Amino acid sequence: MTDERTFIAVKPDGVLRGLMGEIIKRFEQKGFKLVAMKFMLAPDSLLKEHYIDLKDKPFYAGLCKYMGSAPVCAMVWEGLSAVKTGRVMLGETNPADSKPGTIRGDLCIQVGRNIIHGSDSVESANKEISLWFKPEELVSWKLAALEHIYE
Ligand code: UDP
Ligand code: MG
Repeated sequence: MTDERTFIAVKPDGVLRGLMGEIIKRFEQKGFKLVAMKFMLAPDSLLKEHYIDLKDKPFYAGLCKYMGSAPVCAMVWEGLSAVKTGRVMLGETNPADSKPGTIRGDLCIQVGRNIIHGSDSVESANKEISLWFKPEELVSWKLAALEHIYE
């Protein structure tokens, strides 16, 4: 199962702070394979659907507004336990609870400006990937280092 996929997005604050490279670097260096990437101003309809499970939360409207306030870098990363390991790499939702060494633990401070999104289950990853990308935008290629990353 080295082909599990997760949806990762650098949020507008991460983009505006110049943290895209740092975040991409961490996934690349870990050994995950980039399958798709899109730099875009996300339309409100897409953001509302992306966060539909949170529609009754008091922060939902502000969250959608923040997510559409500047471009995002939307990505699909693939590898063994990409969803779970991706979440570990992100840290906790609240950066204050995130350990040093994690993306949120190292690079941000407040929950409302936590710079990155990552799918929380394989099911939501599949949903999010199909929401943000067309099937033909998912690139099929061989990571040359694969045989050195997995035994
Ligand atoms: N969020 C917020 N205030 C909160 C909780 C969440 O602004 O009290 C935002 C934050 O940007 C978070 C996003 O809503 O990343 C989605 O929340 P979720 O619980 O799904 O956290 P995540 O999966 O991003 O860790
Ligand atoms: Mg979530």
